Order: sequence, then C-alpha cells, then structure tokens
Amino acid sequence: MKINENFLKLKDSYLFSTVARKTAEYKSAHPEKEVIRLSIGDVTRPLVPAVISAMHGAVDEMASAATFKGYGPDKYCYAYDALLDSILASYRKKGVTLEKGEVFVSDGAKSDCGNILDIFSTDNTVLVPDPVYPVYLDTNVMAGRRILFSDATEENGFLPMPDGRVQADIIYLCSPNNPTGAAYTREQLKVWVDYAKKNDAVILFDAAYEAFVTDPACARSIYEVEGAAECAIELCSYSKTAGFTGVRCGYTVVPEALVRGGVSLNRLWARRQSTKFNGVSYITQMGAAAVFTEEGERQIGENLAYYRNNAKIISECLDGLGVWYTGGKNSPYIWLKCPRGMTSWEFFDYLLENAQVVGTPGSGFGKNGEGFFRLTAFGTEENTRRACERMSALLKQS
Ligand code: PLP
Repeated sequence: MKINENFLKLKDSYLFSTVARKTAEYKSAHPEKEVIRLSIGDVTRPLVPAVISAMHGAVDEMASAATFKGYGPDKYCYAYDALLDSILASYRKKGVTLEKGEVFVSDGAKSDCGNILDIFSTDNTVLVPDPVYPVYLDTNVMAGRRILFSDATEENGFLPMPDGRVQADIIYLCSPNNPTGAAYTREQLKVWVDYAKKNDAVILFDAAYEAFVTDPACARSIYEVEGAAECAIELCSYSKTAGFTGVRCGYTVVPEALVRGGVSLNRLWARRQSTKFNGVSYITQMGAAAVFTEEGERQIGENLAYYRNNAKIISECLDGLGVWYTGGKNSPYIWLKCPRGMTSWEFFDYLLENAQVVGTPGSGFGKNGEGFFRLTAFGTEENTRRACERMSALLKQS
C-alpha cells in the first residue's frame, strides 16, 4: 500500500493559527486592552427572514409523510427545480441565459474548487494567482499537478493579465479576489477568455464574492463576457452573498458549450457528481431558493450594504492616511500596502501592539503578499469605526 505522497509536499499554513496565537498572547499580557479584529473572513450578519421562513417551511414538510422528501431528484444531480429556477433568474438579471442542466448545486464553492479537478488529467499544468486563496494551490499539489503562478502585484493592481509565453491548461481566476479585493472588468476578462480559447485551456472562475460588485464595468459572472461559455466553469456560493457559511450551499456552472478533446465537460461533471455526491439537504435548498426572490434580494441587499459601508469606512480611513490599497469597493476585503516599508508581520505586530487592531498578514497568501495586509468588512460597524480611529491616530502620529 502506498499513500498519496503528494500530501507530503503540502506546505503547512500557519497563517491563521499564528494570527490567533499572537492575538491571544497579547490579550493575556494586556487584559485591560480591548482588541478589535478586522481579520474576520466569515460573515457575521444573521440569515435573512425570507431564508429563515423558507427553511422553517421545509422543516415542517419533512415532518409529514405526505410532504416528506428523501434524496433529491436525479434529473439535475439532486437539485430541486425551485432552486435552479431562482439561480437561472439571477443569471438573467446579469444578461446571462443558462439551462437548468448547466447548473450543479453543491455544498459550497470550496468543495467544488477541489472536486472539479476530478474531471481533468493530472498531466495538466495549472495557473494560479499569487497571492492566492490557498485551496486552488493545495488541491492541485494533492493531485501532483504542475503549478505555475501569475504574479499579482502593485504594478498590475493585483489583477494579473495573461502572459502569452506561458502555456497553462487550467486557469484559476477569482474576482472579486480573496485576499486582494481587486475585481476584473469585463474588458480584462475578455483578454483571459481569448487566451484560454487560444490555448485550449479551461478557466475556473471563482465568483464567491460577486454580490459585492458595484462598479458597472466589473463582471459579476464570467459569462457576461463573450465566448466564456466555451472556456469557463464558474464557481458560486451563497456563503458571502447570503450568510450561508454555516448552512453550506453553492453552485457550479458547467456550460453545454464547454467541450475539450471532443468530450462535454458538463457530462463528465454530471457523472462525477452523481457518483460521488448525494445532493444538498432539502431544507438548505429551500432556504437558498428564497435568496434570489424579490423579498430575499431586498433583505440580503441590506446585509451586503452593511458590509459595504464597513468597507467604505476602512477605505476612507486609508484614503485619509494616503495608504495604497486595492479592494474595498467591489469587495469586503481591503488589501493595503504596509506603511514605511514594513513587512506583513512587522505591520501585524505594530498594529496589534499600538492600536490593538488585528488584520491578516498578506505574506501568508503567497510571496507577492509580502509587504501587504488584509482587512475585512465583516465586523460590526461600531468596531470598524473604532478600529479605523485607532489606525488613523497611530499612523498619523508616526
Ligand atoms: N472561494 C473563495 C475565494 C473564498 O474566499 C471562499 C471562502 O472564504 C470560498 C470560495 C468558499 O466558499 P464556500 O463557503 O461556499 O465553501
């Protein structure tokens, strides 16, 4: 018996555990000081009433033999029509027409980011951005694929564009991006789509933060770009859109038009899902189906506006200090350049010790993250304001 030795090549990530340990050590040494976390990567606002009421209704259905539901319907890999209809309607609002059979409901984008690789050969070369959401990297290390990086830097606004000299088969794009908050315009994505088609590559487009896009030039779906259906798979999530991080629901779009080596990737993914997955719970699906109703959209809009306002508070604070950053406008993440040439961890310590504010060191997301720092808009408005006042006072005086 042999284990998968690729697992031994994975680098341990100490990022979040080190942030937690340093914060705990500081708190125990200074119990009188109140520490504010602008490092929260999880949502904090509760589920909206439309979702709660739909889920309660589904629980009641499960309580009666007449309305009880077991496994979901086979036809669309266990997704219910009500949910698929609402997803198709939300795409129509973006000017994108999809068929039900092109949408696969899942327990979230993280699983699908890794699972989708089942349909691709391990001989493929993968292109991931640096800095990066670590899942793209680690899932490919596990599979033993060759990995190349596209450099996201201050010079390109943390939005790398294709390099014609690089030949990649699988391309990960994340927009709006975690960790940098930067969002591609449709025009920029068109360049990626053209590159992918020219190279016979497939783009895995992570749209987990699409609901935060407000700039009309930026895409909320890669399918807003002409030709994308022939080269892109889109990964979506209810987590940040509707506070489903603890409920677990997402969806992946594999268009019918996506064919490689004469084979439909939609068929391969359907086969993979029907073999290895048994669907998302009925209660969760009914909750998710309520998200894109008129009432649901209005209610999630209030939560999104709350986070956007926090992002604006942080952005305005940094504008006032003359600190360079990306994100904050189409994203709950703000990615700032550490002042006075500090490294990411130096700035972490400096902010914790002198302002009692915790953020996430950019170097933990890849080599190009060194010297950068991630703040998030997922806290309370009050804490966000107070953290910004403290940062302003500290960085103005120094
Ligand atoms: N993709 C990105 C870029 C993320 O930042 C996250 C979560 O933080 C996910 C996917 C995971 O989403 P889900 O909760 O649907 O698994």
